[in-house]
Amino acid sequence: MRLSRYFLPVLKEDPADAQIVSHRYMLRAGMIKQAQAGIYSWLPLGFKVLKRIEEIVHEEQIRAGHIPMLMPTLQSADLWRESGRYEDYGEEMLRITDRHGRDMLYGPTNEELITDIFRTHVSSYKDLPLTLYHIQWKFRDERRPRFGVMRGREFYMKDGYNFDLDKAAAMHAYNRHLVSYLRTYERMGLQAIPMRADSGPIGGDDTHEFLVLAETGESEVFYDSAVTDLSFGDRAIDYDDVAQCQSILEEFTSKYARTDETHDEALFNDLPEARRKVARGIEVGQIFYFGTKYSEAMGATVQGPDGKPVPVHMGSHGIGVSRLVGAIIEASHDEKGIIWPEGVTPFHCGIVNLKQGDEAADKACENLYEQLSNAGLEPLYDDRDERAGGKFATMDLIGLPWRITVGPRGLKNGVVELTSRKTGESEELTPEAAVAKVILIYAGS
Ligand code: ATP
Ligand code: MG
Repeated sequence: MRLSRYFLPVLKEDPADAQIVSHRYMLRAGMIKQAQAGIYSWLPLGFKVLKRIEEIVHEEQIRAGHIPMLMPTLQSADLWRESGRYEDYGEEMLRITDRHGRDMLYGPTNEELITDIFRTHVSSYKDLPLTLYHIQWKFRDERRPRFGVMRGREFYMKDGYNFDLDKAAAMHAYNRHLVSYLRTYERMGLQAIPMRADSGPIGGDDTHEFLVLAETGESEVFYDSAVTDLSFGDRAIDYDDVAQCQSILEEFTSKYARTDETHDEALFNDLPEARRKVARGIEVGQIFYFGTKYSEAMGATVQGPDGKPVPVHMGSHGIGVSRLVGAIIEASHDEKGIIWPEGVTPFHCGIVNLKQGDEAADKACENLYEQLSNAGLEPLYDDRDERAGGKFATMDLIGLPWRITVGPRGLKNGVVELTSRKTGESEELTPEAAVAKVILIYAGS
């Protein structure tokens, strides 16, 4: 993309109403514009990051054997009356009436809708196990929408639902989700720690939330500092291997890590004092096993191996796709702006032309642009007739991990400059070597 043809409405001033850094940078970098309280338009740069996050979520869900689909945002109230949640859900549910006087709602989650699909089409245990998911907009009329996309009213969420014959099989689905989530967050450059949590209005006993540690997080968390040493890395995983998934769950959940709702002071105090950490975290996902709560209420049964009907065991599993955009910025920024991890960056590499209109500089930039594009990467070329300082400030604010700077002086010596946004370190390289290095950096991702 050439910046002169892009739509990147960068703000010079700090927006007054943004309390936390991710909200401030998202507004300043022209990623979002508020439409109403807790409802945002995603401008091109923000939309790109949202889509990259969505892509990673899809890839990791499909890798785990889960099946993508799409359910609507608007749902019928009658389904929610069957589960009893139409009354229970309270004021967070946006209720709508259509022209025929039928009660509808903007879905805050999809347990009822998916259970209805399941009961319509699945009748035998032979069709199990089954895990379906979608990534769709949700609406929750939050009392205090704030912090930009982190606590919106309209937000983008991946929600998946497993259907299994018995509790053991459903717990394997739970473990599979935990493992796939660990991989998902790590690909986004995040450490998200699974913590024992409370199930809230979804119901059920087994649940973990995934938290990214950050001072601005809304949850208070208590953990053994040893959990922060764990990483999934690039180990091989077979999602059909029940024992392997179980052992990874144990590895990542056996150390003390809880939110305030389930915190146990006595257990916590058993840890050596130096390892006891009290901090704040951003919830970026949650997994639940809730057994037969919905299948019994809504008649989702299958014929078991002995011919008798059995209600299926279910769980639901969510990732806050739009919240993640803010959470990643909270975890990765400096005083100049955002620092995108390579896995989610909106453009792979910036190209800054120090002297637009200089024949050699223009030509070198065009060559770099073409070579990076031909390698399947997306460069962002700042080809505007602007001062170098302004171009650097924009690049730093929007946080692309790598920048190639091209100027007539360097070109006389046959070099351009490759700079890491994260470390600020630069090296002079021939244009060919700079391109080769950037291609190599992204080769694994
Ligand atoms: P919270 O406790 O933050 O209100 P929740 O536990 O009610 O969230 P879930 O039902 O577990 O949310 O939804 C799955 C994920 O969707 C959450 O882990 C979170 O990342 C995201 N999410 C929930 N509510 C919002 C919101 N208002 N704005 C943005 N993302 C949200
Ligand atoms: Mg939750």
